[in-house]
Amino acid sequence: MERKTFGLGDIVQMKKPHPCGTNEMEIIRMGMDIRIKCVGCKHSVLIPRAKFEKNLKKVLRSSASDTDQSGSIV
Ligand SMILES: [Zn+2]
Repeated sequence: MERKTFGLGDIVQMKKPHPCGTNEMEIIRMGMDIRIKCVGCKHSVLIPRAKFEKNLKKVLRSSASDTDQSGSIV
């Protein structure tokens, strides 16, 4: 199984786009639940971590500069 790493401030892409049409979400809170904010309409949602990991497609941009995202197309 592929392990996905994500952290606070990361921009992630979910499997289902937000109703506003934007498919980029920023992680603004980490914990048992994860709060993500839509980059397009600034709407934030709180979802359980397990559900977040299930719906996460990929990490578009990591806030940690030491993480090399090779081959990412932005
Ligand atoms: Zn939105």
